[in-house]
Amino acid sequence: MSLFDLHGKTALVTGGNGGIGLGMAQGLARADEAKNTEAVKALQALGARAISIRADLRVESACRAAVDEAAGKLGRLDILVNNAGINIRKAPQDYALEEWRLVLETNLTSAFVASQAAYLHLKRRGGGKIINIGSMMSLFGASFVAPYGASKGGIVQLTRALACAWAKDNIQVNAVLPGWIDTALTRRARKEVAGLHERVLARTPAARWGTPADLAGVAVFLSSSGSDFITGAAIPVDGGYASQG
Ligand code: NDP
Repeated sequence: MSLFDLHGKTALVTGGNGGIGLGMAQGLARADEAKNTEAVKALQALGARAISIRADLRVESACRAAVDEAAGKLGRLDILVNNAGINIRKAPQDYALEEWRLVLETNLTSAFVASQAAYLHLKRRGGGKIINIGSMMSLFGASFVAPYGASKGGIVQLTRALACAWAKDNIQVNAVLPGWIDTALTRRARKEVAGLHERVLARTPAARWGTPADLAGVAVFLSSSGSDFITGAAIPVDGGYASQG
């Protein structure tokens, strides 16, 4: 069996119906070597072992129920990817408190609640993997991301805290920090922030925007036994953006 084989494993990817979440889910499906073709087909058709669960993750009971439903319907849970996220772009002085709460609850609180809900399922299996999706805004500031940046900075610290607490349970918790990836989220950003497209191209050493498929490899790695001694890490997947001075 390959170090990165995920055959027989089950994963819940929040926000998995498009963008980065779907890119990661496709990576995980392909890494099921024995059932590769079937798993890819199944994910594409949302059939077989790939199931979709509708839930507003801001609602605590719905978030917990979604995790329990995934574990129940798939028979086990090995991997949780906390990917669901939104952004509201404004100057800090212009946010209503409800907008702040909306971003923090969607991006950070839901990851905490889903992780809490997943803990017993993972522990029961003798271990597991949690992958939290941060951002370049986990590292840097920008004028239009006060709640988003706070949520994504928080994701990194949540990752470290969970990693420390649950290492004894053989649960590895890591964060992925995507650079600028072409998705619905950033298509909106490019409409709202003048010059963003060109600034990203100019600063990214790889000289391109990322695609959701660029996140598939790290999702497989952090879900597999190949990363069993890696926990509490925050790994940029950014074409070098964070390394550029
Ligand atoms: P998308 O807008 O394409 O996807 C966001 C996903 O989150 C959707 O599936 C959406 O579901 C889901 N979601 C939002 N709110 C809720 C909620 N209350 N309950 C359940 N699901 C919810 O964006 P991306 O793929 O770009 O973003 C995915 C993650 O990656 C986010 O955490 C984002 O912050 C992060 N990220 C993205 C970057 C990029 O460049 N694209 C860069 C850095 C980080 P639905 O469509 O059904 O509402």
